[in-house]
Amino acid sequence: MSTDGSYVGGFIDVHTHIDMLELDPQIVLKAAREAGVDHMITIGTHHADHLKIVEMVEALKPQVFGTLGIHPHEAKDYNDEAEAFMRAHLNDKRIVAVGEIGLDYFYEHSDREVQRQVFRKQMQLAADFKLPVEIHSRDAEEDTIVILNEFKGRVRGLMHCFTGTQRLADGALDVGYNISISGVVTFKNADSLRATVKTVPLDRLHIETDAPFLTPVPFRGKKNEPAMMIHTARVVAEIKGVSLEELARATTENARKLFNRLSI
Ligand SMILES: [Zn+2]
Ligand SMILES: [Zn+2]
Repeated sequence: MSTDGSYVGGFIDVHTHIDMLELDPQIVLKAAREAGVDHMITIGTHHADHLKIVEMVEALKPQVFGTLGIHPHEAKDYNDEAEAFMRAHLNDKRIVAVGEIGLDYFYEHSDREVQRQVFRKQMQLAADFKLPVEIHSRDAEEDTIVILNEFKGRVRGLMHCFTGTQRLADGALDVGYNISISGVVTFKNADSLRATVKTVPLDRLHIETDAPFLTPVPFRGKKNEPAMMIHTARVVAEIKGVSLEELARATTENARKLFNRLSI
């Protein structure tokens, strides 16, 4: 529903984890459609969930697309078997990106050097398969920008759940990456993020849930799901000074341009 109560469709949630919701996917998809979130991209995080993602994107056609990638938390488990599976499925029609990949020095579940190696390997995979990437970066701004620059001109993508500094936003935009905003933008203490969003051009912006995490206001305390993205969209529309309809049109167009396999 838009602010005047009318339905606004056409949104895409570019980063969600349907397999982690522990809910009937059909119910999740129906609720999302009713809220105006017509499509979503469900994200791979480790080898153990990749088969499920490959099956899910087929079973949940045409609303759901997917990505394959090893999250920096799981970098320590990256091996030949995991890479072989990705290589076998990165040409699947409904797999639209490599992700989520990147660096997380906040939790540091994997050694930093291992994270950097695994990040580079998967950037190379994206280059080999001519796919965009979804980047996870936390407390690792310098190294993230260095590695994105190493692949400049060969790999494009988005910075998922962007909560970094203005400097990271500018650095990412400079190297050709888009910025994806999650429910964090609705949080009371997110003034600096809202200020950064103001500076990101509308044609470089995406919206996501990262469900089941990062539930937007006013649903804090509940499990997040794609239907709730509309609350994030409202806040972003207000910051950008555009209508919800315009925001849906712009962000979906951005997704079409970035994810060349996205058939929507
Ligand atoms: Zn992430
Ligand atoms: Zn995620």
